[in-house]
Amino acid sequence: MIHYKTPQEIEILKESSLLVGKTLAELAKLIKPGVTTLFLDKVAEEFIRDHGAVPGFLGYGGFPNTLCISLNDEVVHGIPSKREIREGDLVSIDCGTIMNGFYGDSAYSFSLVGMTPEVQNLVKVTKESLYIGIEAARKGNRIGDIGFSIQQYVESFGYGVVRELVGHGLGRNLHEKPEVPNYGRRGRGNKLKEGMILAIEPMITLGSEKIVQDDDHWTIRTKDHLPAAHFEHDIAITGSGTEILSSFAGIESEIKKNSYLLNF
Ligand code: MG
Ligand code: MG
Repeated sequence: MIHYKTPQEIEILKESSLLVGKTLAELAKLIKPGVTTLFLDKVAEEFIRDHGAVPGFLGYGGFPNTLCISLNDEVVHGIPSKREIREGDLVSIDCGTIMNGFYGDSAYSFSLVGMTPEVQNLVKVTKESLYIGIEAARKGNRIGDIGFSIQQYVESFGYGVVRELVGHGLGRNLHEKPEVPNYGRRGRGNKLKEGMILAIEPMITLGSEKIVQDDDHWTIRTKDHLPAAHFEHDIAITGSGTEILSSFAGIESEIKKNSYLLNF
């Protein structure tokens, strides 16, 4: 069953979504070679709690941390650890918050200096595909239109769309109906109606879309060990159009100031 939200509920959820963006912007100040993913996790947890929210992923399904940090061939659900970020890394950070009972859920792939042009293009195209998906998420369209648009765009570059992991409805629960695949067929699936909140999150691979799960039961990585990128926005279908509830603006302004991060 799909939970449609009132305009008031959308406003409340938006605060949570925006806090995720602010948290990721804090991290964008700190990402550099030598920093551990666990350090970033601690900073994020403290920042979220200092802003009147709680980490949305911590304890969810037994997940042990605040952030999912996935490097290079890791697609999603990487567990923060003492591992250090290095030059040339692709660092995907997914963050969730719960504020006033509603989840925010947003992700950004950061590019460290020294990244090959080939991987830079993957990151760029993945971000573009998110906005192309959002463009298709219009009232009256269907869920399949979103995935179709994303898939068509990224496959034109020879990239892969992960099949097993998808976007989702968002609200008082982190994962609500409907599922939002990043692949699909035009005109298929649920109709997009006013009050829907969706997390759209393309997970795109440089090579094959085949994935495997590590023995930690969380980390998802590409089977061919080629890199993958991940961007996620929360959007609402409203009476006046589609609104992006989360924001990358703060993140991207910090990226410009951080000489260890590539800005494109
Ligand atoms: Mg997420
Ligand atoms: Mg999500």
